[in-house]
Amino acid sequence: MEAPMIPLAERIKQIKPSPTLAVDAKAKALKAGGADILNFSVGEPDFDTPLHVREAGKAAIDGGFTRYTPVPGILELRQAICRRYAEDRGWQYEPDQIQVSCGGKHGLYNMAQVLFNPGDEVLIPTPYWVSYPPIIQLAGGTPVFVPLAEERNFDLDPAILRDYVTDRTRGIILNSPSNPTGSVLSRQALEAVAQLAVERNWIIISDDIYDTIVYGDGGLPHILDIDPALQARTLVLNGVSKSFAMTGWRIGYTAGPKHIIAAMNKIQSQSTSNPSSVAQKAALAAAAGPQDFPVEMKKAFLPRRDYIVRELTGIPRVTCVVPKGAFYVFPNFSAYYGKSVKGRVIDGSVALADYLLEEALLATVPGIAFGCDPFIRFSFATSMAIIEKGMARLREALAALA
Ligand SMILES: *Cc1c(COP(=O)(O)O)cnc(C)c1O
Repeated sequence: MEAPMIPLAERIKQIKPSPTLAVDAKAKALKAGGADILNFSVGEPDFDTPLHVREAGKAAIDGGFTRYTPVPGILELRQAICRRYAEDRGWQYEPDQIQVSCGGKHGLYNMAQVLFNPGDEVLIPTPYWVSYPPIIQLAGGTPVFVPLAEERNFDLDPAILRDYVTDRTRGIILNSPSNPTGSVLSRQALEAVAQLAVERNWIIISDDIYDTIVYGDGGLPHILDIDPALQARTLVLNGVSKSFAMTGWRIGYTAGPKHIIAAMNKIQSQSTSNPSSVAQKAALAAAAGPQDFPVEMKKAFLPRRDYIVRELTGIPRVTCVVPKGAFYVFPNFSAYYGKSVKGRVIDGSVALADYLLEEALLATVPGIAFGCDPFIRFSFATSMAIIEKGMARLREALAALA
């Protein structure tokens, strides 16, 4: 007799695995099979972790820094993070207002666990980063999607934002520069968020993971620069994954009100205990050392951004907002939806991304993963040679659709 399958908990049934990691896995499998895949789906810099940071990691291993650390992360690292915020942004934090976690994503997970109850609504400007909705749902909260318009360069429209506010709204997640659009929120949008947040006692979660990758000299408007008093209702999320090309080291950090950080430390103490001791020493070298690596990386991204945007907007009926930060473009391909090739109908972003992967050997991420089907995300954290080849293939693949 076949034994019945072990049942799963209710909470997991509504959660899908990360679609960006899934596309990456499919592309890697095709590549392993010998296909000449050009990968535009990756969400990480194509740089190695800087040498001085790697050396610090090795020194930590050889020096025996291989035991449990304090739950919120080692004091020196939290102090270095406070110094960075004070020097770079003029924001004042104490070390007990900082939690170091196993990557930025884990910081978001910890905060959602301590902030939200069933029925609580959290506003998510859309297109959004793929992990926000499941992280809110796993905490029992309800994500509420606030549309951002391509025509407004994916800035938040205060009038539209107000339409989605209810008595159950507990907070909002801001991500500027944004993954997937590369857009930056305007000061006017942030002022509207600040006003609503104060009126309605919201938490503001500001995911600043791309704040070192901002193009042009307009600077980066930030919610804490609207009014420093907003520190009492803001959690600032950051990390070294993108700024120092350290995605595999798994170090992120959250700065915020003491009582929230203390609650997040309780969660961390009963789940991961602490982030890797070795990775914390490496992150310390990144935070306390020279800051030229992120600047050099940004310099390398800029000509790639300019090139890929020029190529995309040169394709008939494709529109593309110029990203002001991060290393993604989010072009609109909806003019091609409804067309077909060899009996295959392109009925949306998943069908188009599948077609591009199988026929043009281009790995991308369908916009539906970010809550917006008209679009496809391309990462330009890859070489100029690959971008050039990829854009030629894309143009050809789209021209074949009728
Ligand atoms: C990459 C990323 C993060 C954090 O990633 P970790 O690898 O967990 O540090 C957070 N937010 C966004 C929008 C990202 O793209």
